[in-house]
Amino acid sequence: MNRNCVVYLKKLCQDIQQRPVGSEGNRRATAFFQEVMDEFGWEVVSTPFQAMDWQDGGAELRIGGKEFQVFPSPYSEGCSLESNLISAGSLGELEKTNAAGKLLLLHGELTKEQLMPKNFVFYNPEEHQQIISILEKKEPGAILTATSRNAALAGGVYPFPLIEDGDFQIPSVFLTEEEGNKLLLMIGQIGTLKSNAKRFQTAGYNLVARKGQDHKRRIVISAHIDAKINTPGAIDNATGVIVLLLLAEKLKDYQGDTMIELLPFNGEDYYAASGQMIYLEQNQGRFEEILININIDGAGFHEGPSAFSPFNLGERTQQCLDEVLTSMEGIDEGGPWYQGDHNIFLQQGVPAIAISSQWFLENIDSQEITHTPKDHPDIVNCDKLVDITEALHRFILKAYLS
Ligand SMILES: [Zn+2]
Repeated sequence: MNRNCVVYLKKLCQDIQQRPVGSEGNRRATAFFQEVMDEFGWEVVSTPFQAMDWQDGGAELRIGGKEFQVFPSPYSEGCSLESNLISAGSLGELEKTNAAGKLLLLHGELTKEQLMPKNFVFYNPEEHQQIISILEKKEPGAILTATSRNAALAGGVYPFPLIEDGDFQIPSVFLTEEEGNKLLLMIGQIGTLKSNAKRFQTAGYNLVARKGQDHKRRIVISAHIDAKINTPGAIDNATGVIVLLLLAEKLKDYQGDTMIELLPFNGEDYYAASGQMIYLEQNQGRFEEILININIDGAGFHEGPSAFSPFNLGERTQQCLDEVLTSMEGIDEGGPWYQGDHNIFLQQGVPAIAISSQWFLENIDSQEITHTPKDHPDIVNCDKLVDITEALHRFILKAYLS
């Protein structure tokens, strides 16, 4: 079992390397998932969707004979532009700018947190939508965003891209706060921005693997299979997918009525959340059939215990969980957190358990690992994934299948 875990980790993070939605690696990852499910006798439904692949290509900004370090925002169009540099540090300033065709530097209050993609339905603050809609009205030639650190919302990435949205058409680049401060001294001057970013239309697949006949009683166990651009995505979230693969083997002879769904969501770290949208649509009006969602994200970190965070479990189910956790070493009950796919189920009134690593729950505001190259297989402890799988198996047997 442990050996399989090592094989799966190597496959997802080293042979395939990158798994953002729309990429070749993403399609290899979903194909691999399907292969393993076939091997263990699971029925797999695969839903294709249109996705965007994206190539970075780098960017250059020159103003007043100086060069500034900028990076293309993920999924942005490229551009080649010569124009005046102007800036906005607040919504009020943004409203007043005459930005048409210009290089618009955003900083300060406007760049505190990553803007939610314009068509993202799960969480989208009014203020984000307002900023996006003003930008679209003002039609700057390109947008430069200077951002500081915000681990809670951008993972460990610094500087983080303020805009990460394939549905937004104005080219943009991002830069550090320090570089932004230097640029603020150049306001009014003519600058040139060249970004070599490129968009491509490709395909992605959202899979659901099933066993059991009674779809009116379903246990849904999920983990997102996609990762951000430029990370091996080991903890976020190859380890979650590995738990699904290990569980598929444990349950290979399962023949009960209660339906078990293993769901590698394709889109948790993608601006369009395509897999989540597909699943919502396919299950519209049917969420009351789901007994529980168990979502794994951030599990298997080499430091500290694993954490099972329960949400709205009934008394008996909670008792089953307590008994299983007491019987296992190295797994604690975790506190509530909402930045994962279990939240989709909670919003539909379905009870859930979110499985992660205690270390990440405690360091959610300061960690600098997820969404970066540091999220590497070296920080994974495969024994923990085996234990999580064992606990998960014991729990569903005890709570739902006996
Ligand atoms: Zn994740």
